[in-house]
Amino acid sequence: MINGEILEIAVECDSEAAEAVSELFNRFNGGGYDEDTEAGEASGGGAVIETTGYDDFGQPIAGEFHLTVKTYIKPGKRGGQTRQQIEEGLWFLSRIYPIPEPQIRLVREEDWAHAWKKFYKPLRVGCHILLKPSWEAVEPVPGDILVELDPGMAFGTGLHPSTRLCIVALEDIVRPGSRVLDIGTGSGVLSIVAHKLGAATVLATDIDPIAVEVAGENAALNGVPASSMIVTAGSVPAGCEGAFDLVVANILAEVLVKLFDAEYGYPPLAEPLAPGGHLILAGIIEERAAMVVDAAQRHGCRLVDRKQEGDWVALVVRKE
Ligand code: SAH
Repeated sequence: MINGEILEIAVECDSEAAEAVSELFNRFNGGGYDEDTEAGEASGGGAVIETTGYDDFGQPIAGEFHLTVKTYIKPGKRGGQTRQQIEEGLWFLSRIYPIPEPQIRLVREEDWAHAWKKFYKPLRVGCHILLKPSWEAVEPVPGDILVELDPGMAFGTGLHPSTRLCIVALEDIVRPGSRVLDIGTGSGVLSIVAHKLGAATVLATDIDPIAVEVAGENAALNGVPASSMIVTAGSVPAGCEGAFDLVVANILAEVLVKLFDAEYGYPPLAEPLAPGGHLILAGIIEERAAMVVDAAQRHGCRLVDRKQEGDWVALVVRKE
């Protein structure tokens, strides 16, 4: 192993096995070690979960969706031991879960170290929101509403036009005391923004367990009290008829239409909305806006606003 290289151990698996493999990586390669690596380096950083086979908007594509759990080990005596413990652990796991042989390779350090973070800088959105990656320093000016984010593997840095359109719409609509439902919360960004704009309660849901975890962490990072923002696995919540003044769903047009029509088995998308309440719909490519407006109308919601950035559209509809 030459200097500047790092060992990557990768296992492709389903979500159940992914949990077990992550647990193993965190156990044996979880604590940073300082014996023969520089302090603060990310070796010993535990499990990193990578998912591929999503479309532009975080929807898994059937047959193409893959989950890979990786861990990175720095060279050295300790690293050799860690590798052995992990390989043994994986062998035992493979007796219980159908996991393939781990792929082990050397990668250049600069290739793996969160390359994407280089592109994620503090970002002003709407009139007052300042989105800030948790690792960047920024000087807010008076009036700024600071939202700190570490998106991890979840979607929602604010870099996507749809997220920004939703934030602009939230600034228009959220009032002190609003009861907000955020479906497909991803990193939790929209829920945290809604809270900071004065929402009394926010319920955030996502079908992706990683998003649920990350959204909870980001809520804590922003000091949002657990009583004000609840993050839970799922989609359109059951038993919440008319309980929300505002629902925001930044998912895909096709998914939104199916959610309106309750085709996934969750309650219909407009059900949790109180009469007179607003629904912000995003993740919609311009050509697909009409099908979402149609679906909303079928469910008693009328278009009241439309925002656009590039090809992406956000629709605001109001429940009659
Ligand atoms: N709200 C964030 C993330 C949007 S990405 C933002 O605006 O930036 C879309 C999110 O919706 C993903 O986290 C995905 O896991 C989730 N999702 C996809 N289909 C869903 C469904 N049917 N119900 C609930 N969440 C869903």
